[in-house]
Amino acid sequence: MVHLQDILHAKEKIRNTIHLTPILTSTQLSKVCGNQLFLKLEHLQKTGSFKIRGATNKVKHAVQQGAKHITAASSGNHGQAVAYIAQQLGVDATIIVPEDVSTCKRNAIQAYNGNIVTCGTTSAERIPKAIEIAAQLDGVFIPPYDDPQIIAGQGTIGLEILEQVSDVDAVIIPVGGGGLCAGILTAIKETKPSIQVIGVEPALANDTYLSLQKGQITSISGTATIADGLRTSQPGDLTFPILQKYLDDLVLVSETEIKQALHFVLERMKQVIEPSSATTIAAAMFHKIPFKGKKVAAIASGGNVDLTKLSQLLS
Ligand SMILES: *Cc1c(COP(=O)(O)O)cnc(C)c1O
Repeated sequence: MVHLQDILHAKEKIRNTIHLTPILTSTQLSKVCGNQLFLKLEHLQKTGSFKIRGATNKVKHAVQQGAKHITAASSGNHGQAVAYIAQQLGVDATIIVPEDVSTCKRNAIQAYNGNIVTCGTTSAERIPKAIEIAAQLDGVFIPPYDDPQIIAGQGTIGLEILEQVSDVDAVIIPVGGGGLCAGILTAIKETKPSIQVIGVEPALANDTYLSLQKGQITSISGTATIADGLRTSQPGDLTFPILQKYLDDLVLVSETEIKQALHFVLERMKQVIEPSSATTIAAAMFHKIPFKGKKVAAIASGGNVDLTKLSQLLS
């Protein structure tokens, strides 16, 4: 289990690495949503997503314990975050990416001096490889969400929202493997349980929605949602019980709704966010949230989107 105390420790540990990201409001957006919306801008975070919070908490701990090498199995935001923090701390990082990794993601990892090893096309192929390389090199494998220190690092966003949005009534969080949601839930519910916390998944990647309905971890087969940060096939063993215990509701958004929210944020609010981030705004814009007239914080979780693919995402 992860508790508020772990998140307070994480806050201290990552303080000098991360940005305190701003909150943005828009009268237009609030009007469309029927609630007063506060966007937490984690796309302006170091490395372009919140993933640096958990990665920093975990990698700093590993290096203090003597780790000489860090590995991760993600071509996306987690891989970039791990490569960045390893470089900052002066340890080598190897990031295992799929054979079909995009040039944009490969470049981002290489810009942080991460070594790249390609392996298969699924995370089921990449994770054992990352664990194997870590074992060979006296290193530590850094998982993307199902780890107490990763969860605690992501939870620091919850502490910031409590400080930045006074009297916040509700928080909306995108759910992939559930590390972000589990961390923020713990921070919020162990501080002020009356705040409503709502998770969001794309209808095309509804593994946590189904798991909550059935009361047990349930997996789905491959998904093609444009929200590529939320394409996990099942919630984590550690994250799921936290979501089960604390989450007030979990709602689903369609691909069209994600695109329309992305369009709104780009055009009206001038913020470059990625589709995974747009899910929380879509949930608010399309009235999936079961209340009106409240102060609602929505997490804009990241902004790493291939600009050459943006027009395709919006069409
Ligand atoms: C990883 C990620 C998520 C989902 O986080 P989980 O901890 O896997 O639930 C959401 N948005 C972005 C931008 C991400 O990179």
